[in-house]
Amino acid sequence: MSKQEVLTILENYGLSATRSLGQNFLCNDAVIDEILDLAKITKSKQVLEIGPGIGALSEKAASSAAAYTAVEIDQTFTTRLHNLLDPLGGEVIFQDYLKWDADSLSGEKRNPDVILSNLPYYVMTPIMVKLMQDFPLCPKMVFMVEEEACDRIFAMPGSKQYGPLAILTDLFGRKEKCFNVDGGSFYPAPNTTSSVIRIERSLSNEDGQSNPHVSCFRDAEWFSMVTGAFALRRKTLVNSLSSGGKYSKNQILSALSEMGQRETVRSEDLLPTDFVVLYQILRGRKGE
Ligand code: SAM
Repeated sequence: MSKQEVLTILENYGLSATRSLGQNFLCNDAVIDEILDLAKITKSKQVLEIGPGIGALSEKAASSAAAYTAVEIDQTFTTRLHNLLDPLGGEVIFQDYLKWDADSLSGEKRNPDVILSNLPYYVMTPIMVKLMQDFPLCPKMVFMVEEEACDRIFAMPGSKQYGPLAILTDLFGRKEKCFNVDGGSFYPAPNTTSSVIRIERSLSNEDGQSNPHVSCFRDAEWFSMVTGAFALRRKTLVNSLSSGGKYSKNQILSALSEMGQRETVRSEDLLPTDFVVLYQILRGRKGE
């Protein structure tokens, strides 16, 4: 879809881009093709797209997949998306993804093989988190994010940017920053550079056993503990996590001691897997 095509579609349907909904439409065919190449959609794949907009990625995704479903917040795109997707058998659900119940999907659609999203940047983190919680077994997610967000997604333990998003995506699977996209590839053009990232699920560990972290993703309380551990960044893990009131200092100290960690350890010094163990101990479920 070129910039001229985007403008024509907007004009023909009487639409406009709503800044508050993070609407920056892709208008560069080479970028669209590269994203779809990374997604490797084939006729056996179930595809879910969050925020299809006017359909830059949707037409090719829907025509190459076994089934295509999209969740879009903006109902002004209804006619455009139905005209585009109905002939291809694609389904669009007009809902705020953050309030949507993924269990309303049934059959094979409940377990998409590929999730695609040129993420609306104002809700990038909550949408990524919810996707991993809703679809903890999804083998592949391809996202467009703000380049700045990559610092948080790819941050290593011990670094300033290391936190909940790095931990969540790390435990989910193998993540890679694939390429950058400049503002001119969108209409309207954002001021920032964007990056396409791919996260591929590890369904088993190196010994071929099933990934031990799936239960964390299904338990929103685990992510809330991780967020609590980073709530007061300058403090120790004990002080930060206990400030939320859910876990007492004694409980946390005893868990850290069981893990062989110092009482004064800071959250940024723990590995992603340490947060799984910490949670299991705090919930009295070690060894699950
Ligand atoms: N996929 C299209 C593209 O690449 O041109 C549009 C991407 S645009 C950056 C983000 C899209 O997400 C918009 O269509 C916007 O309306 C939609 N969106 C924003 N917030 C959303 C939410 N909470 N749930 C679902 N869709 C949302």
